[in-house]
Amino acid sequence: MSAEIIDGKAFAAGLRGRVAEKVAELKAGHGITPGLAVVLVGEDPASQVYVRNKGRQTLEAGMTSFEHRLPADAPEAELLDLVARLNADPAVHGILVQLPLPGHMNENLVINAIAPEKDVDGFHVINAGRLATGQDAMVPCTPLGCLMLLRDRLGALSGLNAVVIGRSNIVGKPMAQLLLRESCTVTTAHSRTRDIAALCRSADILVAAIGRPGTITGEWIKPGATVIDVGINRVETPEGKTKLVGDVDFESAREVAGAITPVPGGVGPMTIACLLANTITACCRIHGLPDPEGLTAG
Ligand code: NAP
Repeated sequence: MSAEIIDGKAFAAGLRGRVAEKVAELKAGHGITPGLAVVLVGEDPASQVYVRNKGRQTLEAGMTSFEHRLPADAPEAELLDLVARLNADPAVHGILVQLPLPGHMNENLVINAIAPEKDVDGFHVINAGRLATGQDAMVPCTPLGCLMLLRDRLGALSGLNAVVIGRSNIVGKPMAQLLLRESCTVTTAHSRTRDIAALCRSADILVAAIGRPGTITGEWIKPGATVIDVGINRVETPEGKTKLVGDVDFESAREVAGAITPVPGGVGPMTIACLLANTITACCRIHGLPDPEGLTAG
């Protein structure tokens, strides 16, 4: 068997198109332009690329993009002041503080200073709690993107066995919560899990979010399963160049899986598209409008 390749790039482009339509509707019907503020502290090269891409795609969707940069040695109080100003700014509907922050800053403190209704990353403790208790929440973008790809391929997920490998606050835990909300039977695996390969072989849905290149091989996969590879790992090729690979060994996995996301071009492009969609949701909620229909599965 050779798995269907799930084209996250095309799906994300479609989602960005729906976001742009909704933005045009909000502008024409309500005189509202959704605005997303991104804050970057320091000069981490990968973060700079992410922030640039977020800004560009925000503008392409017709929204306003606000970019704020602070030096790596900025005091934490300066960042908290900036967050407070963005919280109070009516032109800003979404606030994203790019992680990781420099070591002298307390990430939890900063994230929890963002107004929960503007927390488009969904990392605020109130949004994590709302998701866990089945209330309307801002849902973290990467797991939300994974869920959309799963629903698109499988339709209803109810009753399926799902194994999520990884228990981080930004991917693994919210992914498990979302799949539970879809009535999957969910198991979360991590570095201490015993006989993880056997556990994975029970999964109709396997989500890998560990950050270890090629860990999950075809032998771990149930025939016909849907495999979502969240991992983004930069590895060196025999020619001395670098390339991006996932946590799943793509070549062996595709022989067994029913469908699989590639890296790059799978989950990655969904993350920013979901960030834009979350900003629209935040904008609608802030203005007392109904949640936009058909944008996300959140
Ligand atoms: P993280 O915070 O480092 O968490 C990694 C998780 O994987 C931990 O729970 C860890 O277990 C578990 N783990 C590590 N090695 C393992 C092993 N050999 N077997 C089983 N579990 C293992 O990472 P993260 O932030 O969740 O990110 C995970 C990956 O997704 C990274 O490659 C990251 O670059 C990628 N990512 C991609 C996107 C995207 O847009 N596509 C977004 C975010 C992250 P313990 O808890 O026991 O240590």
